[in-house]
Amino acid sequence: MVSSARSAPEKVLGRVFGHQAFRMQQAQVIEHVMAGGDALVLMPTGGGKSLCYQVPALLLDGTAVVVSPLIALMHDQVQALRARGVRAASLNSTLTHEQSKGVEQSLSAGELDLLYVAPERLVRPRLMQLLKNIKVSLLAIDEAHCVSQWGHDFRPEYLALESLADHWPGVPRLALTATATPATRKDILDRLRLPHATIFASGFDRPNIFYEVVDKADVRAQLLAFINTRYRGRSGIVYTASRARAQALASWLNRHGINALPYHAGLDREQRTRHQARFVSEPDLVMVATIAFGMGIDKPDVRFVAHVDMPRSLEHYYQETGRVGRDGQPATAWMAYGLSDVAQRYTLARETEASASQAQRVMASFDQMLQFAESLTCRRVQLLAHFGQDSHACGHCDNCQMLQRDQPLWDATEAAQMVLSTVYRLWRERGQRYGSGHLIDIVRGKRTTRVVAQGHDSLSVFGVGAQWSVLTWRNVVRRLMAEQMLVTDDEGYGTLAMTPASVPVFKGERRLWMRRDSISQMDRPD
Ligand code: ADP
Ligand code: ZN
Repeated sequence: MVSSARSAPEKVLGRVFGHQAFRMQQAQVIEHVMAGGDALVLMPTGGGKSLCYQVPALLLDGTAVVVSPLIALMHDQVQALRARGVRAASLNSTLTHEQSKGVEQSLSAGELDLLYVAPERLVRPRLMQLLKNIKVSLLAIDEAHCVSQWGHDFRPEYLALESLADHWPGVPRLALTATATPATRKDILDRLRLPHATIFASGFDRPNIFYEVVDKADVRAQLLAFINTRYRGRSGIVYTASRARAQALASWLNRHGINALPYHAGLDREQRTRHQARFVSEPDLVMVATIAFGMGIDKPDVRFVAHVDMPRSLEHYYQETGRVGRDGQPATAWMAYGLSDVAQRYTLARETEASASQAQRVMASFDQMLQFAESLTCRRVQLLAHFGQDSHACGHCDNCQMLQRDQPLWDATEAAQMVLSTVYRLWRERGQRYGSGHLIDIVRGKRTTRVVAQGHDSLSVFGVGAQWSVLTWRNVVRRLMAEQMLVTDDEGYGTLAMTPASVPVFKGERRLWMRRDSISQMDRPD
C-alpha cells in the first residue's frame, strides 16, 4: 500500500472544502481538538476560524454542536456545508415547528455531523435531553467574546454556556473569536470554564504595513509633508478626534493642494454616501474622518492611514490602521503624538459618564495606547502581543529602524528630574500647581509676564534646562504623564502634580529613556 503523506485533516480539507493547505494555526488547532483538548482560537475576521471546528467535526465520531449568535451567519454556514455534502443543520427561532422537528429527528438518528444552534436554545432542557442521548463530538462556541461584559457585544444568554462544562466534561470545547483583548480573553476562559484551554492566536499580522509614530509639533504641516513626500496623489485616510477638526483639516488640506473630503456623523446621510463613493472611485482622495468612517469600506489600495489625534485604544488603532494596504502592497500607518494627546486622557476620564468601572476600562484601554505610542520597542510585536500573538521584532516599523541606528536612545532622566523638582518645589515651597507650559517656561528660564509676576525666576530650578527646546520639553513632560509620574487635576485646568510613581526617577534609581531622534530633531531655538 502506498502511504500518503497527507494527514487525515488535510485530506478532509482538500476533499470536502477544496483547499490546498491549512492557514496559520488551523492545523495545530485541529490536531489539539482531535486529541481532546480545549482551545481558545483568536483569528481576525476572515482568518478561517470555521474550519477549526468543521474539519474535526467530520473526522470525530458523533455530532459537533456549534453555538452561534447570529442566525443569518448560521444559515449561510449550513447552506455552504450542505452544498459540499456535509450533513449540517441548524436550530433557531426562524424555523417552523415542523422544520425543528425534522432537525431533531436527524439529530437523534445520528445523521448530523454539525448542528448549529443559538445559545439560548442550546441550554433549554428539551435540546439538552436530545443531546444527552447522542454522542457529541465537540462543542464550538463562536463569537466567544459575547460572554464578556468588556466588549460591546455582550450577550447575557452566553453566560449560561458555562454549564456545558458540567454536561460534557470529556468533550473538547472550542471558543472562537476575532476580538479578544487580554481582559476579554481572561473573561472567556473564566466564564466558559476553560481553565486548561490552549490559546491559539494567529493571523493578526499585516506585514505590508509600516508603523510609525512621530512627535507632534505642527501637526498640519507634518501631515502635509508626509502626504506630499510619500503619498502624493494616493488614497489615504486621516483620522481626527472630532467633527470640527475633520471639517477644518479637510478644508486646509484642500487649500494646500490635496484632494480631501471630510467624513463624520455630523454630515447628513446623503453627503456621507457621496463622500464615501468618491473615496472609493477617486484614486487620490484623502478622507479626513472621525471614527464614524471605515466600517464596511473595502478599498484595497488605501496607501496610508494618518492619525492626527490618538485613538482611544489599541483595538481602535488596529482596526483603523487595518484599512490600509488590503491589496498587500506597501502601506503606512502614521501617527502624530504629542502632549495634547496625553492630556486627552483626562478629558476622556471626565467625559465617561458611565459607571466607575466603565470609566476604569476606558482609562486602562487608553493607557495601553499611550504605552504603545511612547514605547521604544517594535510596534508590531506590541500590537500582536495585544491580540495574543507572539512575534519577533519586525524590522519594518519606526522603532525597529531607530534601534538599528547608532546610539538610538537618549537618557532623559536628568531632564525629567528638572521638571519633577520644579513641580515639587512649587508645591512644597509655595503650595502652587501649574500646567506644562508654565513649568517649561521656568526650566527653560523664560521671563514671561507670569513667571516674573509670580517671582518664579528666583526659583533655583529657573533656567536649569535652557539647552533644550520647548518641543523637547513637551516630549519629556508627555512621557512623565504617560507613565503617570505626573497627573493632572480633576477639574480640567491641566495643572500637574507628582505621584509616587515618579519617586524612583526623582531619586535617580530609575532611568528614563527616550528616542534620540525626538530630541535632536527638535533641539533648535524656538
Ligand atoms: P472567520 O470565521 O475566521 O471569519 P471563515 O472561517 O469564514 O473566517 O473563513 C474565511 C474564508 O477563508 C472562507 O471563505 C474560507 O473558505 C476561507 N479559508 C479558510 N481557511 C482556508 C484555507 N486553509 N485555505 C483556503 N481558504 C480558506
Ligand atoms: Zn518592528
